[in-house]
Amino acid sequence: MKHRILLAVVCVCTLASGGASLQAQALEPIRYTLRFPAPHTHYVEVEAAIPTAGRPQVEVYMATWTPGSYLIREYARHLEAVSANAAGRALTVEKSTKNRWRIATGGAPGVTLRYKVYSREMTVRNNWVEAGFAMINGAPTFLTLVERAARPHEVRVELPSTWKNVQTALLPIAGATNAFRAEDFDTLVDSPIVIGNPVTREFTVDGKQHVVLFEGDAAMIDADRAAADVQKIVQAGKNAMGSLPYPHYYFMTMVTEQGGALEHKNSYLGMTGRYATRTRGAYLSWLGTLAHEYFHAWNIKRLRPVELGPFDYENENYVKTLWVAEGFTDYYADILPRRAAISTREEFLDGLSSQIEQVQVTPGRLVTPVNMASFDTWIKQYRPDENTANMSVNYYPKGAVIAFLLDARIRKASGGARTLDTGMQWAMQRYSGDKGYTPAQFYAVMSEAAGVDLKDWFARTAESTEELDYTEALDYYGLRFRPVDVETAPPYIGGGTRNDAGRLIVTSVRRGTPGLDAGLNVDDEILAIDDVRVRATDGLAARLAQYRPGDTIALLVARRDRLMTIDVTLGADPGRPWRLETAPNATDEQKARFEMLMNGK
Ligand SMILES: [Zn+2]
Repeated sequence: MKHRILLAVVCVCTLASGGASLQAQALEPIRYTLRFPAPHTHYVEVEAAIPTAGRPQVEVYMATWTPGSYLIREYARHLEAVSANAAGRALTVEKSTKNRWRIATGGAPGVTLRYKVYSREMTVRNNWVEAGFAMINGAPTFLTLVERAARPHEVRVELPSTWKNVQTALLPIAGATNAFRAEDFDTLVDSPIVIGNPVTREFTVDGKQHVVLFEGDAAMIDADRAAADVQKIVQAGKNAMGSLPYPHYYFMTMVTEQGGALEHKNSYLGMTGRYATRTRGAYLSWLGTLAHEYFHAWNIKRLRPVELGPFDYENENYVKTLWVAEGFTDYYADILPRRAAISTREEFLDGLSSQIEQVQVTPGRLVTPVNMASFDTWIKQYRPDENTANMSVNYYPKGAVIAFLLDARIRKASGGARTLDTGMQWAMQRYSGDKGYTPAQFYAVMSEAAGVDLKDWFARTAESTEELDYTEALDYYGLRFRPVDVETAPPYIGGGTRNDAGRLIVTSVRRGTPGLDAGLNVDDEILAIDDVRVRATDGLAARLAQYRPGDTIALLVARRDRLMTIDVTLGADPGRPWRLETAPNATDEQKARFEMLMNGK
């Protein structure tokens, strides 16, 4: 890769690459015991038996971030009461950095480390412990040795009497109860653990066990219907990628009225509301998220950018191809439910249209190439503010749109013989596991699938700020963007607002809009237009509808409590000009091509 910037990174993490399995056999495992003596107080107590190999001092650390969620989160802040002993003798434990501890072993062959973790953050990265259940993630829970070795890690869970079982994709240890083994620290971090009384359903595809589970407030969830549809998505995934790459797979949904989901190698952990299966919109949204995380079992967990492994769990890991890892996954998240006959053709087109629209109304698409949006995700995508859309582009929708355009390009160039599925399968065969791909390698394998060199095409779409060209894809499938009647377009200013307890507050002002040009600021409170009060409850749009594009209005705002009037000449609302539909003159051949995309052929 051309710009691989890892010079400042000191990797202390365990390694999953060459020779790791041999090392793993030789190294004694770290053995953790998790206890929940008072789960209603939101603590998990951790005991770790750590082998020292006779060293006078060992150092342990806690990860600062979770792979798949690119922000330093400082999990060590939730730890307390860190202590260690050996053979009943207390040892000196000294904190050496924000997330590391040094233990003086006194020459003991093993030490027992104990600590408590406050666990009350219902996000896919963190932990939650309450009277009813526990959700444990590896990164914020397990202190491990500072070493470059693939050491096995074992976890035993002591269940409170009211909790029924432990669910995790980790392999159970034969002959032990509620005990599991990870071949290395990466696997431990990559295997969330749900403990409690979950609702579970199971099915088998290709001889592989799949578990669909719901924990939390699952009474309203239609688990039977969900499991039946998840099975269809698994089948669609297998059809697209050729085979199932995992030994078994756990679909883990916490029904907790929160959102978010995170991929793992043999499982996914997500959150949803109790009504997720009650309306079609909510259900498709849940299944779409599930399909996204599930497709990651191929794209990112196995077929991965070269930079995403071995992980440095204490520092940022920079990568330029998250538009492939996340964006292409988003494309498949829309297409798998369609191929599973769960969503309709129109729902697929609507989803794809929304992805296109999200890219095309983002001013930052003309400022930041999507590969650099990926690189800077640690400081931008995961730390958005009111100006993010003006200076950067979201690599999820832009990557999905590139996948759509690339799929059409491969199909057209190969005369329909090959598709994006072909390219992804070939990439998987060549670069999955320990290898990883560079951007150039990814471009090359896709070029091979197309039968033409796509290097320049990728340079334009992914490494420049050029506008995406939809002509070829639309023409190939017989699609068009629905025409917009500019004559009837409503007037607009181009800023986002929110109702803050009755105050109408500006939340964003996008580049290239009348609002920005006139000097409207984020956090301005809009009070009146042409000396007549604007009420937050009515909203700005209703009031603007009384004007025409081209009119100049006097906008009275309060900025840091000082009143001022801003003259704004209203523009014409671009509306939603990016809605795809079948072109009226589409030929049968074009329509047939689109059906092949829909059917996975
Ligand atoms: Zn994702």
